[in-house]
Amino acid sequence: MPALNTPLNYRSEVEVGFDVLHIRHDFPLLDKTVYERPLIYFDNAATTQKPRQVIDRVTSYYKNENCNIHRGVHFLSQHATESYETARRNVQAYINAQHQHEIIFTKGATEAINLVAFSYGKAFIEEGDEIIISAMEHHSNLVPWQMIAQEKGAVLRVIPVDDAGELDMMTFKNMLNERTRMVAVTHMSNVLGTINPVKRIVELSHNHDIPVLVDGAQAIPHQTVDVQEIGCDFYCFSGHKMYGPMGIGVLYGKDKYLRKMPPYQGGGEMISEVSFEKTTYNELPYKFEAGTPNVVGVLGMDAAIKYLGEIGIRNIYAYEKFLLDYITVEFLNIPWIKIYGSSEMKSSVLSFNIDKVHPYDAGTLLDKMGIAVRTGHHCAQPLMERYGIPGTIRASFAFYNTRDEIDKFIDAIRQVKRMLG
Ligand code: PMP
Repeated sequence: MPALNTPLNYRSEVEVGFDVLHIRHDFPLLDKTVYERPLIYFDNAATTQKPRQVIDRVTSYYKNENCNIHRGVHFLSQHATESYETARRNVQAYINAQHQHEIIFTKGATEAINLVAFSYGKAFIEEGDEIIISAMEHHSNLVPWQMIAQEKGAVLRVIPVDDAGELDMMTFKNMLNERTRMVAVTHMSNVLGTINPVKRIVELSHNHDIPVLVDGAQAIPHQTVDVQEIGCDFYCFSGHKMYGPMGIGVLYGKDKYLRKMPPYQGGGEMISEVSFEKTTYNELPYKFEAGTPNVVGVLGMDAAIKYLGEIGIRNIYAYEKFLLDYITVEFLNIPWIKIYGSSEMKSSVLSFNIDKVHPYDAGTLLDKMGIAVRTGHHCAQPLMERYGIPGTIRASFAFYNTRDEIDKFIDAIRQVKRMLG
């Protein structure tokens, strides 16, 4: 975080490679008014708005291509199958996975984590084993591990978070031991914005032969993700947080683990041969894709990936960093605002509280001004406990947000303080 009064290099939108006002035309919902005010949408960490390119892809599928996949010899089925598998290759390229079959479509990051927790957990976690998560995990990367730990009599261990919102890496290093069976950490915190040193976490864990799952739900819309560079064994994300549809997500898993893991769900598609006595399972990735998949979700997510590629994820990162730095410096000058999360490595998320104002009341008042933020515990109750607060106000930014919106937001926050605090 920039120190107070540090002069910032406020790069213009044009300098980072795209024209934000032009880009906003791609997002129909951004033209909406709420309570007769132009919508300011700062709840992007919950879900992002969708560009026309994604909406059109979804509509076009239902109008022109709708069919079940992998099952038919007829034209429509073959065409849909081809599009679905092309999308898989595009995801593989986007995150630089080594093999196409390492990409498994799920309904979101949550389902991807549950898949690993229950499939890997069932096969490889035993009584007395340890699973390491961090204190900044979303409930999605906490509860499934807690469930499997309880079922197996394993122990859940937690990497502490310091006041700046960074992981205590020294403690983490000392936590690793011969009973550790899995390390599951978020790439980027949905509350603090911290980008965790996942590559280092992988290195330390692999020194003990321990697999690492990285929850990428928040990171993937904001930065380049190269799973081979990170070296992680599993990486999960959701389409709806990266400008794609809801109900679709990805589990990347290394071949060497996915091959050994039992199926998570049974049904059509995931089988090879079925009799009443015995079933043999399909090859990867189909072993983990039971039933009719969310074909239209996959194609919509594919369109979102293409769209992000056109804007350029590096441009997106630079512009969103500019927005975050801008508001951070403004807020640091306001004595009645407390920011949570001050890591140098931070992106797109600003959690804060206003002295003597409950976050829920602030959120309700901001809503009446046409500003959408998230308030509460953000599905990270243990982290709220760590900071001794009931919740925060969270403003989270996307590349279609503007500095003008941030200026309006700062004015609105001053008004909230005047009215409630
Ligand atoms: N992990 C993190 C860090 C998240 O922010 C979220 C969503 N808020 C999830 C996991 C779960 O994503 P989904 O609800 O799309 O499965």
